[in-house]
Amino acid sequence: MNIAVLGAQWGDEGKGKIVDLLTPHFSIVARYQGGHNAGHTVYANGRKFVLRLLPSGILHEGVTCVIGNGVVVDPQALFAEIDEISAAGIVVGDRLVISDKAHLILPYHRELDLLSEARRGERKIGTTSRGIGPAYEDKIARRGVRVGDLANPGSLRDAVEHNVAARNRIIGDSVMDARVVLDDLARAWQRMRPWVADVSLFLDRARTDGRAIMFEGAQGTLLDIDHGTYPYVTSSNATIGGVCTGLGVGPRAIDGVLGAAKAYTTRVGEGPLPTELTGEMGNRLRESGQEFGAVTGRPRRCGWYDAVAVRYAVRVNGLDGLALTKLDVLDGLPELQVCTAYRCRGSVLHEMPGELAHLTACEPVYETLPGWTAPTRGVREFKRLPAEARRYVARLEEVTGVPAAIISTGSAREDTIVREDSVAGRWFAR
Ligand code: GDP
Repeated sequence: MNIAVLGAQWGDEGKGKIVDLLTPHFSIVARYQGGHNAGHTVYANGRKFVLRLLPSGILHEGVTCVIGNGVVVDPQALFAEIDEISAAGIVVGDRLVISDKAHLILPYHRELDLLSEARRGERKIGTTSRGIGPAYEDKIARRGVRVGDLANPGSLRDAVEHNVAARNRIIGDSVMDARVVLDDLARAWQRMRPWVADVSLFLDRARTDGRAIMFEGAQGTLLDIDHGTYPYVTSSNATIGGVCTGLGVGPRAIDGVLGAAKAYTTRVGEGPLPTELTGEMGNRLRESGQEFGAVTGRPRRCGWYDAVAVRYAVRVNGLDGLALTKLDVLDGLPELQVCTAYRCRGSVLHEMPGELAHLTACEPVYETLPGWTAPTRGVREFKRLPAEARRYVARLEEVTGVPAAIISTGSAREDTIVREDSVAGRWFAR
């Protein structure tokens, strides 16, 4: 079985933990989009790891990790991450495969990211300023530099000189020296070279050999460049189509799709968030859910579970089931609200509106459910959840139309309920 695990909300759904938990069922974990703006927090061997670019499968011995062509790679960030996990005793060795078609993030991309965000002023997107957006811009404009180009110093020099000259015209108050960039890239190539391969071919052969692949998404459905709340989105396709384009695999290579969703909603940066809670309750969710960005430390905006948004993710990705995370964060709340529809300009909507102005004008229609007093934190069997928590989960399943195949009740791997009777649960039944 090859399964995709991706975000069903606005990112930070706890995909890192779910991917890590499921990795023992797979031989390969492949990332298909994004860059080192994603921050997956995983607790393993009693330590906390924040993985940005490397798939979280790297923490498991014997698992090969793939960085697809849809990912943008900052070589320095990649090496820093490899050095960090190596220092913790995790050997990367030959367990990494990087696509020769992946685009590189170069020093001028980071500068241009900061500059364009500053120029947007009030209309800023809230990017992580790591150069990801400008690297994707260069890719689409067909002037990007790919990992495989590092093997051809002549054409690499032409491309870098051209791009650095363009940067120097835009940022007039300092001059970047293309030779310095090229020297850094020459060193980066020496280190990266053994890992670089044709990822599409690698995955095809792996499938022929019967190796199971997990496709790991970064960010989330509502941040997808096409299907998210444009323009407040990331620069890549976080949704299921990104698996095919970002790795060079056909759709039939994907046997199932699992969406990660929190038992409430969060979002980082700007853009609409219909169920946002700005008062006391928002603070309560942020504090107990530790909702601060794994990479940037930025406080996340918090709100009630938005079933309209998750239903949308079910449709766009063809989700078979959900991994419902952070149920324990709701422990002790007297009552809970679930947004089942939007009220917008006098009418009730059951589907996510495509137009930003429309979505911005939406008010949530809430349904109130009782909270629970006994903790769910650390509960590992469905039947041991408080009755109200079981009811809450059952209602979320009804309003989203898919089963909660996995329920997470804490950040540790073990604090998880895998519901083997659900469709997705059966994939992972031991
Ligand atoms: P990702 O980018 O989707 O992997 O999400 P993040 O890593 O940014 O955020 C998830 C955070 O929630 C991490 O700190 C996890 O350790 C933590 N986490 C994941 N699942 C649970 C859970 O069920 N309960 C609690 N309390 N924390 C969780």
